[in-house]
Amino acid sequence: MIVMKFGGSSLESAGAIEQAASIVKEHLDQKPVLVVSAMAKTTDQLLEAARSAARGDSYSARQHTEALRRMHCNETRGVLGQRAEPFLRDSIAPMFRDLQVLLVELREGRPFTPQIQDEVLSYGERLSSLIVAESFRHLGIRAAQVDARKVIVTDGQFTHATPLHWDTYSRLRRTVALLARDRVVVMGGFIGATLDGVTTTLGRGGSDLTASLVGAGISADEIQIWTDVDGMLSCDPRVLAGGRLLREISYQEAQEMARFGAKVLHPASVAPALCQRIPIVIRNSRRPEVQGTRVVSKVQSAPGIVKCLTSKAGMAVVHLRVKNRGMLSSITGGLADLFAREHIAVDLIQAQEQGISFALENWPGLSQVLRKVDESVDIAVEEDRAAIWLVGEGIAHAASTLARARGALQGADVRLASQGSSSLSLGFVIREADLQAAMEALHREFFAAPASLNGRPRTSSIRTEVGQALSLRGALSPAVALKSNQ
Ligand code: ASP
Ligand code: MG
Repeated sequence: MIVMKFGGSSLESAGAIEQAASIVKEHLDQKPVLVVSAMAKTTDQLLEAARSAARGDSYSARQHTEALRRMHCNETRGVLGQRAEPFLRDSIAPMFRDLQVLLVELREGRPFTPQIQDEVLSYGERLSSLIVAESFRHLGIRAAQVDARKVIVTDGQFTHATPLHWDTYSRLRRTVALLARDRVVVMGGFIGATLDGVTTTLGRGGSDLTASLVGAGISADEIQIWTDVDGMLSCDPRVLAGGRLLREISYQEAQEMARFGAKVLHPASVAPALCQRIPIVIRNSRRPEVQGTRVVSKVQSAPGIVKCLTSKAGMAVVHLRVKNRGMLSSITGGLADLFAREHIAVDLIQAQEQGISFALENWPGLSQVLRKVDESVDIAVEEDRAAIWLVGEGIAHAASTLARARGALQGADVRLASQGSSSLSLGFVIREADLQAAMEALHREFFAAPASLNGRPRTSSIRTEVGQALSLRGALSPAVALKSNQ
């Protein structure tokens, strides 16, 4: 058996669904189980509809749901033709009616809780899995839709629930694995339910995690992630075009890349596959002739080689200064608690004599939240920052890599640098305005110039001085944070 996950853009239209069907037909002998995302941008639009309804704007809520209804019906008609009407009437229309009821309740004052948000967002994958299964049957594939909420069991952390592995695996084995013997199972990604059956979601982009869970649960031979790019590239195509396709990367490299900004895979999706050493293959549904990227246990390349550059924009750097060094451990302890409570992920940390600096994704309430740590701490927040990571097995221990990276970033206003505690990454925080130039300079250093430069002119040199910094990333614990002071 294999798992084939199709992302939203790989199912965005009748043509895309037909293309997915023809790809699946090529793999029928491997007994595929399909995990599907919501079609195109459905999840964003559902969220907008719910937010509009919650603030009393029923006109806007209606517009979003109407657009969604039209899109789902039109694309279904595009595949099913004449046969669409009874299916739309009996299976799709009732779902839009139920969604409408929820939105009316929100407009009338029902609190817009994370639980309701998950309920609303779940319609995306529930609709797409029904439509894909019906379309596949029409196209000659024996397909059965399974409601993912019946098999993916999670805790009750709405909007970012954690799967309960053993319950999920046992349900997958009892249902999906059996059905998959003689038909193509189609289930929605991203959604699940608590043991009591309350709908949850795994967090944005969570369909990859569903695919990996399903793969582990049915002991699949392979997990294929079908998306709209050729695979993992040596640089983020949204920042710099022309990166190289990576043929093979390790699970750890994939995890690190996903964690540090590569959008192709959800960061949590590697672990279930890794536990059972199931290869993950990333492929382009628009160019199925391309082999894509394989994520496997052992890669052929020597350690210390930079595999890829990842980045995150919209970051902030926070500097906390304490009056005396003794306060530092209580501050870092307080921060660790605060971050765990508020689900804040810190990406780079650097400890100094007088305090601690770290980088994280910026958001409007950041400064206020930080005030909760300790009133006496002096806090400075630098906004409009971006982080770049060099990722590859063992690169944090390759002194020459750090030297070459610093050389390439010569003149960049490097605010923070971090040698990854995992040994797989080196990170630098720079000004957001310098992101493309820095990426280009690093790519030139480690991979030679990319083929095209996103249509933008070659950059001027990046400014100011390289900050001196060697620090640690990872869990913010006093031990880790203080280490570089010793
Ligand atoms: N539809 C969900 C999202 O847009 C999950 C996914 O596509 O992975 O985040
Ligand atoms: Mg995705």
